[in-house]
Amino acid sequence: MSMNVQPDREFIQVVKEAGGDTLKQCYQCATCSVACPISPDDSPFPRKEMIYAQWGLKDKLMSDPDVFLCHHCGDCTAMCPRGARPSEVLSAIRAYVYTNLGWPQSLAKMCTSIKNLPMLVGIPALVVFVMWLISGGMQLPGGEHFAKVGYQQFFGHWDFHLLSKNVLFIDIIMLTAVGIAVYSLYRGITLMWKGMASSLDQGGVGYRPGMVQFVKEFLWPSLVEIVQHKRFEECKENHSRVRGHKPLMLAFIGLFFVTIYSMVKNDVFGIFFPSLHGPISMWNPVKWLANVAAVAMIFGIVVLWQNRKKMEAEGTARNTFYDWFYIWIIAAVGVTGLAAELLRIVSIPSLGYIVYYVHLVSVVMLFLYLPYSKFAHIVYRTTAYAFDRYRQSAYVKNPLNE
Ligand code: SF4
Ligand code: SF4
Repeated sequence: MSMNVQPDREFIQVVKEAGGDTLKQCYQCATCSVACPISPDDSPFPRKEMIYAQWGLKDKLMSDPDVFLCHHCGDCTAMCPRGARPSEVLSAIRAYVYTNLGWPQSLAKMCTSIKNLPMLVGIPALVVFVMWLISGGMQLPGGEHFAKVGYQQFFGHWDFHLLSKNVLFIDIIMLTAVGIAVYSLYRGITLMWKGMASSLDQGGVGYRPGMVQFVKEFLWPSLVEIVQHKRFEECKENHSRVRGHKPLMLAFIGLFFVTIYSMVKNDVFGIFFPSLHGPISMWNPVKWLANVAAVAMIFGIVVLWQNRKKMEAEGTARNTFYDWFYIWIIAAVGVTGLAAELLRIVSIPSLGYIVYYVHLVSVVMLFLYLPYSKFAHIVYRTTAYAFDRYRQSAYVKNPLNE
């Protein structure tokens, strides 16, 4: 059977520039698919992805769940006899997908190059600065007052008890960034799912699970598997990445609970009980959770930082902006968060306010650029895990009996 292949040369070039520059060295020996600890026998990867990439089959790769199931462990790269670095090629393909499914496209494209770093930092820095300026809160508190209220009056104070001024300004800034990220990710995974589903051969009988079925049978088990790092644990070559990845993930889960607690306390109960406005007490277990999570975040990112450096030094990974951007952002969030807390404890408001400003800017960057950075794998890989379960299920394999 002959096949007319229309290579997308621009796609090949982008993948090469994003760290997949070795893809043409692959000669299809399939050692990588054998070496991959999570590749299934009935649909092995990453050999087939290597040839798709060589041929520039962009659409096929954008709807290939195996590209996202890969967790970049490097076992395949270590075994490849041609130095084709399949793990890096898959990583570059993922970067391409995040950019091309991202919304708005201008922002997604901006996140692909270090040349845009001044803009990527400058936009959130300017937004937070302007909000700080118009809030009228640019006044340093005295040491005693600072020790009592912390950064709760960073954006000023008013006697309007329904919502503290700080909460209002932070909500406006963060919810805007989160809103853009959530919409972008929702749009991205919807398109990704449609693409993956269209590649399924269901013998013309399509059966779609309801929302409850989907969550119960596919999404929830996938989330449990991800939290437990089951597939990650199978990695041999870069097993130390698990030591960094796990605390980082748990740190984010912990900080998510702290944020929800803080929002409910300030934005919901604070409306009825104004005395609830204010920083979380040092003796509150939620505060301890926040501090432990911040330390775990810094520990995790240091491990990932070292690991990345090691891989680059060994020549198994290339130094790319895509890989480093999210490491820098998370490091900035963790370090400035902890430093702001320490400066509050030792009561140095001048330095504390500057560090807190940088912290807010880095948090905005974390949320805003999540859909287009390596960080997006949290959502896209989870979707691919759920899809993997779905395609193995009776809904697809045996739809008439479902
Ligand atoms: S990437 Fe390497 S190991 Fe995999 S098929 Fe190509 S040459 Fe073989
Ligand atoms: S990087 Fe690891 S998970 Fe990804 S294809 Fe290679 S061996 Fe498999």
